[in-house]
Amino acid sequence: MFLAGKRALVTGSTSGIGLAIARALAAEGAEVVLSGFGDEATIAALTAELKARHVAGDLSRREGVEALMAGAGAVDILVNNAGMQHVAPVEEFPVEKWDQIIALNLTAAFDTCRLAIPHMQKQGWGRIINIASAHSLTASPYKSAYVSAKHGLTGLTKPIALELATSGITANCVSPGYVWTPLVENQIPDTMKARGMTREEVINDVMLERQPTKQFLQPSDLGEMAVFLCRDAAAQITGTNVLMDGGWNAQ
Ligand code: NAD
Repeated sequence: MFLAGKRALVTGSTSGIGLAIARALAAEGAEVVLSGFGDEATIAALTAELKARHVAGDLSRREGVEALMAGAGAVDILVNNAGMQHVAPVEEFPVEKWDQIIALNLTAAFDTCRLAIPHMQKQGWGRIINIASAHSLTASPYKSAYVSAKHGLTGLTKPIALELATSGITANCVSPGYVWTPLVENQIPDTMKARGMTREEVINDVMLERQPTKQFLQPSDLGEMAVFLCRDAAAQITGTNVLMDGGWNAQ
């Protein structure tokens, strides 16, 4: 329970990777603040399970991020995980989807960091963990907004790490390959349409085509990495991008 007494805010923690990270941090004693969309019953069940608070807010809007940070209070561990995807050729990419993806996957992280850092500096300890993607270093067609936002998130993480390097605060990205979550499942229909493929073809020939291990990560794998990055043993890991991509970016 080495995180007892620490408060962790995990954005997008009503589902998928964020929920697994919230569970892993709570299991080490952190007081978790949940964020993200979901029906009332699901959120009530999660807050009861994790003895956590849930703070609402649409993080694709600056007011939503500010409301979340005000509701969460001082945060020792900040996990920027909320994200969305849209798949379309660039010339057909809906401009409102571009704006929404950049706002949620990139700008929200800037805003949460800017608002969380003063308390971390006062404490002389903090952990910022930005969930990027294998697409933070490479691209796939039809994902212009997502790839841009994830490359941007690794960029954002570096100056933050440098600015805080002597403050006891680390800032890193964790970049998974394909993890079996609703976000992945939900992009199958769009990819089927964009590429004229069957569901099986999308899974085997598109998603796992570039993941050499040919296996999806599990959300709990990301939970364990987040816990490790909070340990004293990870105090010298800062400004980096931890790849958990089944070898994707080794190619
Ligand atoms: P998910 O769809 O299961 O969960 C997304 C979470 O973000 C949910 O809690 C949702 O409510 C929240 N969210 C969405 N829009 C929001 C908004 N406007 N305001 C506030 N919250 C919002 O997704 P996931 O697969 O768990 O992905 C989590 C993160 O991991 C994302 O940043 C994603 O890009 C990244 N990632 C996922 C995979 C993967 O294979 N699943 C791979 C690489 C990176």
